[in-house]
Amino acid sequence: MKITDVKAVYLSRDKKGTGAWQEYYWQIVVRVDTDAGVTGYGYGGGGEPGRLIVNGHLRDALIGRSIGSVEDIRRVWDHLYFMSLPYGRGGIAIMALSGIDLALWDLLGKAEGRPVYDLIGGLKKEKIRAYATGGNLSRVRDLGYTAVKRSHQWRSEADYESAVIQAARCREMFGRDALLMFDCYMSWDAAVALRMREILDEYAPYWFEDLVTPDHLTELAELRPRLAPVLLAGGEHDFSHHAFAAIARAGALDLWQPDITWCGGITAGLRIVDLARSHGVPVCPHRGGEIWGLHLIAATDCMDLAETHPDRWSGGKDEVLLDEPVVSEGRIAPTGRPGFGVTPRPEYT
Ligand SMILES: [Mg+2]
Repeated sequence: MKITDVKAVYLSRDKKGTGAWQEYYWQIVVRVDTDAGVTGYGYGGGGEPGRLIVNGHLRDALIGRSIGSVEDIRRVWDHLYFMSLPYGRGGIAIMALSGIDLALWDLLGKAEGRPVYDLIGGLKKEKIRAYATGGNLSRVRDLGYTAVKRSHQWRSEADYESAVIQAARCREMFGRDALLMFDCYMSWDAAVALRMREILDEYAPYWFEDLVTPDHLTELAELRPRLAPVLLAGGEHDFSHHAFAAIARAGALDLWQPDITWCGGITAGLRIVDLARSHGVPVCPHRGGEIWGLHLIAATDCMDLAETHPDRWSGGKDEVLLDEPVVSEGRIAPTGRPGFGVTPRPEYT
């Protein structure tokens, strides 16, 4: 089937004035139409600039191209990466490319009547253990979660105590067997991390995430063994297998968290998973409970663990998709519908 049209849509968000990048460059929906009457949808990042990269540049390279196999999608990815390389290789260009890539996988799945997980190796995990990022803890417990991640930004000495309070509360509510993680969103440093490692020891945190910015690979590599057994996790702000190859060379992280809607889609995700396997590093995609990452987790040797934001299902911050799977008894699974099995709301198409 030949591509007849490509269109990215961005619905701008309410700006709260915090200056946070998410208020400016959040997710785009990419639609790819074909002469076979099949339409694929993908989810990328980059807001208005991401939309312009798709509609104003990459679209022209897609019209008229044939998509009939996984190999065709890989070829398109490499071509678009090369085309956008002078201004891309990371950031908004690859966030935009992610949306195209995911739309192509959705397209191929729909054309063949197969879910994406089937195109990339078949279902290896029926129901994936979900972890909750944020959310009201009582509600999270009621949804059956056995793994929780709390956001912890370090600003002053008082935040050592606030971390201990959070950890104690989680252990009290979820017990010793639950997984407990901290997302530091690049606000800690080596000294803070080492002190946290000590004072949180009795609460056995599983990982510390995004400790410092992704530019500090050498520092992370030095810190990593000193934090054991707490794992050093990160990668949501890294793009494509090329960035993860640099992380691997530096030995910077214990656990990789590529975001499938930002790092280059399923095509880059599969390359990252291959690379991780060859280095013995576990992969747990950022926002892996969203449908795009969920298919990758279900079909590959990614960890049996998917990040979810329970608040999305309660009058939601980001309800772009219809028919998205939700957590039940602490687990989540992709449906067997063709492609990714979701449809964007009409205003995004
Ligand atoms: Mg994070």
